[in-house]
Amino acid sequence: MLTVFGSVALDTIRTPTRILRNTLGGAATYAAISASFFERPGLVAVVGYDFPNQYQSILDRFADTRGVVRAHGKTFRYDGSYDQTLTYRTTNKTELNVLKNFKPVVPEQYRKSQFVYLANNDPAQNVKILREFDKVKFSMCDTIEFWISTRRNDVIKMMSRVDSVVINDEEAKLLTKTHNLIKAARKIMEWGTKYVIIKKGEHGSLLFYDDMVFPSPAFSMENIVDPTGAGDSFAGGMIGYLSSKNSTKLSTIKEASVYGNIMGSFAVEKYGVYGITRLKRSIIRKRFNRYRKMVHF
Ligand code: AMP
Repeated sequence: MLTVFGSVALDTIRTPTRILRNTLGGAATYAAISASFFERPGLVAVVGYDFPNQYQSILDRFADTRGVVRAHGKTFRYDGSYDQTLTYRTTNKTELNVLKNFKPVVPEQYRKSQFVYLANNDPAQNVKILREFDKVKFSMCDTIEFWISTRRNDVIKMMSRVDSVVINDEEAKLLTKTHNLIKAARKIMEWGTKYVIIKKGEHGSLLFYDDMVFPSPAFSMENIVDPTGAGDSFAGGMIGYLSSKNSTKLSTIKEASVYGNIMGSFAVEKYGVYGITRLKRSIIRKRFNRYRKMVHF
């Protein structure tokens, strides 16, 4: 079984073509939806009483939501703007709200999960929740600039407790205080994790393990409208695939990173979560096969 823990949000996303206000977002939302095409995950998260029922129904459709708690207060909110090229995102506001004092509890039914994804979330909460599982075979975490800037030590501690770290290139550089991605990955591995996957947006990803690096290009896309959640969809696809195979073999992890790129490519094609909510397994498979042809030489 797979458990995903992290933020469920109401996002305001400002792209050059459209502004979305209070749309369903959150790192765990994207990751859980993406993972569900490989294996239905259990979701642990907190929302406020303002969380719309229609969004709750979306979560229910893709995940086991017995771990989603409703707390007094407002749902976590994120507000970000993209530049004209959709390459850079500026955070305008992060309101933790109910996330701030959340004490996550893993439902009894999820405790046997062997695969655990700690989506972008309070790093101290992420470390705590990891202890609540009986026997984790493979754990993975992500983080974002907000936590690196405000809680760097907790982020490093979290990275020392997991089997793998997925992180985007800019955040890896910021966290490790280096400009070179190989050095950045090595540093993160020195903190204790075995695998580091650096996401490079439209340029794909690099998977590091020991002295090895496995690059995989992004699926080439012409029409991108909203990159939000691409990283989380990447991670969700990756861990969902691993969990569905119940494997942590290096060859499976490499395949999983390709599925990560594929899921990220769907996320950016539509606004908000709708790039991945309307998918089917057959469409994912088809794109995976096209990708395989694309990279073969
Ligand atoms: P990505 O585009 O993959 O980096 O993920 C964007 C998602 O992360 C958005 O839907 C936000 O709601 C969520 N997010 C942004 N900042 C934070 C934060 N500090 N903690 C948790 N989740 C966040």
